[in-house]
Amino acid sequence: MPDESARAEIVDLRSDTVTKPTPAMRRAMAEAEVGDDVFGEDPTVNRLQEESAQRLGFEAALYVPSGTMANQASIYTHVQRGDEVILEATSHVLAYEVGALASISGALARPLRGVRGAMDLEEVAAAIRPGSLHEPPTGLILLENTHNNASGAVLPREHIAAVVELAHRHGVPVHIDGARIFNAAVALNIVPAKLVAGADSVCFCFSKGLCAPVGSVICGSREFIDHARRARKMLGGGMRQAGVIAAAALVALHEMVDRLAEDHQNARLLAEALAEMPGIQLDLESIQTNIVIFGITREDLDPPALIARLKERGILCLARGPRHLRFVTHHDVSREGVLCAIEAMREILQTP
Ligand SMILES: *Cc1c(COP(=O)(O)O)cnc(C)c1O
Repeated sequence: MPDESARAEIVDLRSDTVTKPTPAMRRAMAEAEVGDDVFGEDPTVNRLQEESAQRLGFEAALYVPSGTMANQASIYTHVQRGDEVILEATSHVLAYEVGALASISGALARPLRGVRGAMDLEEVAAAIRPGSLHEPPTGLILLENTHNNASGAVLPREHIAAVVELAHRHGVPVHIDGARIFNAAVALNIVPAKLVAGADSVCFCFSKGLCAPVGSVICGSREFIDHARRARKMLGGGMRQAGVIAAAALVALHEMVDRLAEDHQNARLLAEALAEMPGIQLDLESIQTNIVIFGITREDLDPPALIARLKERGILCLARGPRHLRFVTHHDVSREGVLCAIEAMREILQTP
């Protein structure tokens, strides 16, 4: 057994959620002005909500404990029980939110398989149901940007605008799961408000590449956010002196957005090296932000074996299904760390 404590540095590429708060965040948290947020009296939370809404181009916003709660409170607010939600088949809401779409909102999923995270517009149009005596009416169309399971691929502004136009023509609202919306905006080099223009609600996470310890936000109209606040309370997400954590989220919004470009460069470096290695299958066109998902084609190497051998070399990553691995770059992994991961992969793949 290698001695864990002797290792110089662990390169943790499992997720951008492992990022720790920066020194500026810890200072802001220690000094945060707070109040009871259930009474609407936490000045730091109020400021975070105002700035988030403004940044995304909405009237209002609501701070919630997690991205999952952000999605589920939004969905609950948009749909009626028995409604259908059109969404990408491998989306986070469907794959990793414990069936909450059905168990909390009583909604049906209408999954459509996308290409690099984007559903086909004609298939979306064909899936919309007006509601009759027999059919479940379409209550919501949900987009994910960047798309986690599509290797962090970005939905471009034109695609979002086209889906919004189609949805609204049928009187259907659009929610964007923008857990990594700033990664998308940075990759496209446009302001996030332009990217999501027309959507009825958008949520994003502070706790991923932006490095804050906790929290997400939902943005929408003032009326929508008033309803979503009730949904948050019902889900147990009413928070008291939440300004302590919101203070770190404000630092995230002010200081941590532009630097996401570094994570994207590191992911690109990693992906280009991996694409050259034997036994690996990787679609370089999908690698647009900070997530690198690739297939292992060598029969004798399954993801658990590869993960174990990487771990011996101080590199941590996760499996994505039976034949795929995922590396995620972030603030707490340097370019040198990425080069170490590349070297470790080369070594492992060279040995039979
Ligand atoms: C991480 C993530 C979420 C959920 O965020 P949590 O804070 O982990 O609940 C939602 N959607 C996408 C696309 C994500 O990557």
